[in-house]
Amino acid sequence: MQFVPFEDDVEVNGQTVYSVVEWVPQERWLRAFKEIGDVVGAGALYGIGLKIPECALFPPWVADVHSAIKSVDVAYHLNHRRAGSVMFDPATNTMQEGIGHYGYSPVPGERRIVSKCSTPYPCDFDKGILTAMARRFAPKAWVDHAEPETCRKRGDDACTYVITWSDD
Ligand SMILES: [Zn+2]
Repeated sequence: MQFVPFEDDVEVNGQTVYSVVEWVPQERWLRAFKEIGDVVGAGALYGIGLKIPECALFPPWVADVHSAIKSVDVAYHLNHRRAGSVMFDPATNTMQEGIGHYGYSPVPGERRIVSKCSTPYPCDFDKGILTAMARRFAPKAWVDHAEPETCRKRGDDACTYVITWSDD
């Protein structure tokens, strides 16, 4: 389900959109996304998703498409707090639950990664984030929504995307 927080004590790092660190209740943040989607359309949510990797905090080990996609879940948790504490601790490599995940399942022997996203963020926004992260290292990478009949837009718990790229 899009736009509905899973827990009521989660905050988002506003630095992902503003240029300063400011924590905003996730419920309010998701409501803003819903309004943008309703008023401007799904394309705007995709566009914001494309921009997110420019502003959000990412771990330092991002070096190729694989580590870029793998890092999205870590970055996601680094940019959220629950009950006042950041949801990923790099010192202990531990993650708090409560906001869902961005999956990372590489397809062996292919330039292809399957990512199942179970966040309360909109489908188009998450597709934009994955696209931008892959294109950092593979400018022609593209992202398809697998099994489009299962989508958070229809009230399902998760959407599955396939990230594909070539070396040229
Ligand atoms: Zn979807």
